[in-house]
Amino acid sequence: MAEFDVGEVISYLQMCGAERASLQAGMNFQLRGGESVLLMSRRPNAPYVDRVLDGGTTLIYEGHDAPQHAGEPSTKTVDQPERLPSGRLTQNGRFAEAAAIAKRGGRRERTRVYERLLAGVWVFNGVFELTDAWREAAGGRQVFKFRLELIESGAADAGSSRTPELRHDRLIPSEVKLAVWRRDGGRCVACPATDNLHFDHVIPFSRGGSSLVAENIQLLCARHNLAKRDRIE
Ligand SMILES: [Zn+2]
Repeated sequence: MAEFDVGEVISYLQMCGAERASLQAGMNFQLRGGESVLLMSRRPNAPYVDRVLDGGTTLIYEGHDAPQHAGEPSTKTVDQPERLPSGRLTQNGRFAEAAAIAKRGGRRERTRVYERLLAGVWVFNGVFELTDAWREAAGGRQVFKFRLELIESGAADAGSSRTPELRHDRLIPSEVKLAVWRRDGGRCVACPATDNLHFDHVIPFSRGGSSLVAENIQLLCARHNLAKRDRIE
């Protein structure tokens, strides 16, 4: 069950509260025996490695590096590991194994994705299904890539009072979210509120508005977001 709306701005503590876990690692396969959770977070001064495709319905998530040990060469120069020295699967290996099952037509792992936009600012990116995984060369080494497809959020919470039209959520790329956050000064464009914010499509996706350009995205507080939904309905 999705606790947040796609594009909702939350705190680290809200995220941990919803997941009932103190989230530290980026990849959490079947967290606490339940569904999986992935955290997106850009390293300072590093390019984005996760990509949004298909107009905002597909996320390509990069796997995790080997743990860095003091005094050893940077793990950014070695292949991302599938297995631990013990032979057990790493998180990369576990997600890859689940993706292989999905690719053969089997079960698709349900995965909730959160993104750390800035210090203390997290965004819920939605509930996805894991559909593919592969390895590719990047910077002279092999990295894992995972394909995740956004579930129409209506399917995730049947019985919700929200109208189907407004459930056609689309993922907003990180660089667009960051540009909007900076342009709008981290507050609602309709009032001074700085909490309960939401990345809102100025023109809804269902009416042809894009998720991929900052011009069509704005920050709205919960109150103004609801007021806008009521107006559209
Ligand atoms: Zn407002």
